[in-house]
Amino acid sequence: MALDELFRWLQGPARCYLCRGRAAGLLCETCREQLPGPRGACLRCGRRLPQTAPACGACLNRRLPYDLVWTPMDYRFPVDRLIQALKFKGDLVAGRVLATLLLPGPDCGYLPRPQAILPMPLHPRRQRSRSFNQCSELARHLGRDLELPVLEGHLERWRDDPPQSSLDALQRRRNVRGAYRLRRRMTALPPTVLLLDDVVTTGATAHAAATVLKQGGVQRVELWAVARAGGGL
Ligand SMILES: [Zn+2]
Ligand SMILES: [Zn+2]
Repeated sequence: MALDELFRWLQGPARCYLCRGRAAGLLCETCREQLPGPRGACLRCGRRLPQTAPACGACLNRRLPYDLVWTPMDYRFPVDRLIQALKFKGDLVAGRVLATLLLPGPDCGYLPRPQAILPMPLHPRRQRSRSFNQCSELARHLGRDLELPVLEGHLERWRDDPPQSSLDALQRRRNVRGAYRLRRRMTALPPTVLLLDDVVTTGATAHAAATVLKQGGVQRVELWAVARAGGGL
């Protein structure tokens, strides 16, 4: 959606983005109830559980570069369509809707809250061909909602590899190892950061990016993604 369309949308009567019925917000009550989430999940790997829990059995003795995973939606209709609309058509309203699906975030009581949001970066060549990074768009909204700064440019994807979708889980992990790095001469990162992605599938890219953040001195990495596709990370 182009910017002028977005303004028309914002000025028009309140209509549900999905069904165009009357709505108080971006989605009507009926569409909201039919969303594929929020789902209960392990807060360490995102595996679906009957209710949200700090860790599933598989995660109790597992070392992962991220400390918390928040993926409230399943990658199913209409969330999949919304993500595709944002990613491939530049539909900014879809981005706004998707960011609201991440709220209010996980309930993890005493744990330190993130101090900044880092959108998962695209390789510069890919970003040029798509003209924008969908994760930056989500981060802009989420940063406003959570009152957190968005840090662009600290983390960069410096190696472009074949698209992950053609590979299996093990190949994906190998494919992205070393694909991210921290840019020197940027201000230091805060101790707790929120790494934001749109969809998590095998977690290979998130794993690689979070590893770099930990090596760069970040103490706690929360991985947030609107949706997850597949089992656990
Ligand atoms: Zn609706
Ligand atoms: Zn788990």
